[in-house]
Amino acid sequence: MSDLPGRLVLLGHPVAHSLSPVFQNAALAAAGIPLVYEALDVAPGDLKSMMGLLADARAAGNVTLPHKESVYAWCVRRTAIAERVGAVNTFWSEADGLVGDNTDVGGFTYAVERLLGRRPEGLRVGMLGAGGAAAAVCAAVEQWPDSQVHVHARTRERAEQLAARFAGVAHVVESEMHTVRGMDLLVNATPLGLDGALMPIAPGSIPDATAVLDLTYRRGRTPFVKACRARGLRADDGLPMLVEQGALAFERWFGAAPDREVMWRAIRAP
Ligand code: NAP
Repeated sequence: MSDLPGRLVLLGHPVAHSLSPVFQNAALAAAGIPLVYEALDVAPGDLKSMMGLLADARAAGNVTLPHKESVYAWCVRRTAIAERVGAVNTFWSEADGLVGDNTDVGGFTYAVERLLGRRPEGLRVGMLGAGGAAAAVCAAVEQWPDSQVHVHARTRERAEQLAARFAGVAHVVESEMHTVRGMDLLVNATPLGLDGALMPIAPGSIPDATAVLDLTYRRGRTPFVKACRARGLRADDGLPMLVEQGALAFERWFGAAPDREVMWRAIRAP
């Protein structure tokens, strides 16, 4: 760890709600790394100048909404998986500029393994939403043997574009019901269900055999996940994906694994 980044940042807009500084700073302290992980609220119009400052500072970091595609374009190189998703959530500095990766894909696969208790294989996945997180889900499903994802989104054109990009594994379906009927796993890749006002789909309509992974998260589980669990479904929220994408990013920055237990303890602390 001799070549530490000059700064370690999270770029987003907004970022005040993010839990990433909580568990990344706990992991940095536990590893004795003298850096502070800073959440930077960067409006889209300020991103260009910020990327220049970060390159000069030999920075590394994470990227969240709405900057993942823009930072992708700013990187001089990207890993194959970032190229596949078309978005960067993790970056670091090399001699010729910023290099981008996407650890959301690995984070998602980890969350599915944790929920199902086995490696994902031969899975029929239904997905609500067709945005950036949905692209990471499709890239993950593409890596799993013999698996398919059935996508429904309120903007059908977006679902069709996503399915065309991942033509080997992704198909558009007409209604929400087609994302649960006969499916092993339902993924909520919309922001719905986070505040409890609107659910992405009625929990009562999800078959008993369908596990639910809600990509949204909050401390103490989302109302959607609570409602799914209350009716006996296997269900989890986006925290395992969040922590794992952060742990994988830490490995990219420092070449060593963080203490994942320390990260979880920081998240669970009141
Ligand atoms: P995004 O690119 O903005 O895409 C959001 C998707 O949800 C789009 O398909 C959008 O449809 C749809 N949507 C938004 N509001 C809706 C509504 N009221 N009704 C129905 N559909 C709606 O966002 P994203 O980056 O994919 O993120 C989606 C969620 O995943 C967010 O809650 C985010 O926090 C979460 N996430 C979690 C992790 C993690 O590590 N756990 C990682 C990434 C993202 P339109 O195209 O019609 O707007």
